[in-house]
Parts: sequence; structure tokens; C-alpha cells
Amino acid sequence: ESESDPLLYFSYNVEGTIILLRVMKKFNVKEFIFSSSATVYGDPGYDEFDESTPLAPINNYGLSKWMIEEVLRKLFKAEPDWSIAILRYFNPVGAHESGLIGEDPNGIPNNLMPFISQVAVGRRPCLKVFGNDYETRDGTGARDYIHVEDLADGHLDALRVLNHKPRLITVNLGTGSNTTVLELVKAFEKMSGRKIPYEICPRRPGDKAAYWTNPTLAHELLGWTAKRGIEKMCEDTWRWQMMNPNGYPDE
Ligand code: UDP
Repeated sequence: ESESDPLLYFSYNVEGTIILLRVMKKFNVKEFIFSSSATVYGDPGYDEFDESTPLAPINNYGLSKWMIEEVLRKLFKAEPDWSIAILRYFNPVGAHESGLIGEDPNGIPNNLMPFISQVAVGRRPCLKVFGNDYETRDGTGARDYIHVEDLADGHLDALRVLNHKPRLITVNLGTGSNTTVLELVKAFEKMSGRKIPYEICPRRPGDKAAYWTNPTLAHELLGWTAKRGIEKMCEDTWRWQMMNPNGYPDE
């Protein structure tokens, strides 16, 4: 979507953030946590990314995140009394344990986990697996999926570490492990007791075979590590999907 409508992403993400920062400055609120993304790294030629991996986004979504990061770095350089945490998310999935808060994408889901869960609940007939000829355990793409509640905990830890002190920190948030498309399908089938029909399709343009974070800095700087594994991610996604088989009702 960011390739076909770049202005949407530059406007919402970059312009929106600058407006927010200006309002914050006006009211002397100078503590900011930014939801960045592993997409700022692009493809450095290896799979385990740490915070020193070069920034070279390969799509407009990643570019919009990189641009905001640059704005924050320049802002902090000019006004070092800001307190800023840049958190680079890997692949957030899952839902709140209660089943009340979950992911309800508009239209056909782009991302794997919501697609799997819509197939499981019968809303879509079949998952398309984008490529099974990658150099991974089973040939399908591998990612570092992270439970949204672990991600939320990471934000609280970042807030505690910032503690209104003037600083800018940049941290990857991921588990440090990786799961292939077919491993996620199997885990979801096991958890839900539903069959997930799938077909092997061509690779999706722009997809890297595999990547994950080196989670060391998050642990050292924030005292944070992801606690929830793939089973829990599937369990909570499935609970939300069962309670909301057609997503949230329209407003
Ligand atoms: N994927 C897939 N079918 C889908 C959506 C995703 O096979 O319908 C694969 C995709 O090629 C990648 C992995 O699942 O290997 C994670 O994709 P997702 O879009 O969830 O996250 P990304 O890492 O691309 O941001």
C-alpha cells in the first residue's frame, strides 16, 4: 500500500508526527516514545539485526519510519532536553488476553497472523503462502513474531528508563527467535483445533527470507525480554477471533 500511495504514508506518519511534536513542544511536554519498525533496516545481507545494523528501508512504509527517526534525532540534537525512546518493533501479533482487544484489519489482511486466524474462523477459504523456496528450515519466510502484550511491557519499561531524563534511546523489540510461515500455521492449527488450508504461491516482491532481532540491548537497557511464546500468541489471537468472528461491528 505504501508503494502505491506514498503520500498517504508520508502525510499520516511523517507530517502527523511533526505536528504532534510541535504541539508537545508548545505545551512543554518533551517525553516521547516512537513506534518505529524493523523495516527501517531493509536487507543488510544478514538475518540477525541489532541496533547498529545500517538503516536502508526498501519500501515507503519503512522510509516513513526512518524519516521520523531522523526528525527525532535532529530534534534531540538541537533540543537535548527531550526524552525520547525509538522502539523498533519486529512482527507484532496476538491480542489482549481478555479477547476484547485484537487486530481487525481493513479489507483483506496483508499480514500473516490475521490472515491465518480469518481462515481458521471460516472467513477466508485458504491461506496463500508466499514462497517455499527460501533458504529457511522449511523453505517459507521466517520472522521474529512478538506478542503485543510483550510489546506493551517494553513501552512501560522504556518509560521507566526515560524517567523524564534528557536522553534519546533506540531499541529493537523482538524475541530473538524466528518462526516460519508453515510453523505458524501448524501452531495455530494445534491451538485452535481447526484446519488451515493453504496453497503455495510465488514469493511476494520485497520479502526477505528471514530476519530477527538480537534482543541483547533491550535486556541491558530496559531490563526487558519477551515472555510470551508462539503458542500464547496463537491462543490470544484465536480467542479474540472467536469472540469477534467478523471483526468489530461497524461504528
Ligand atoms: N506471508 C504469507 N502469506 C500471507 C501473508 C504473509 O505467506 O498472506 C508471509 C510473508 O511472505 C512473510 C511472513 O509471512 O514471510 C510475514 O509476513 P507479514 O506480512 O505478516 O510481515 P512482514 O514481515 O512482511 O512485515
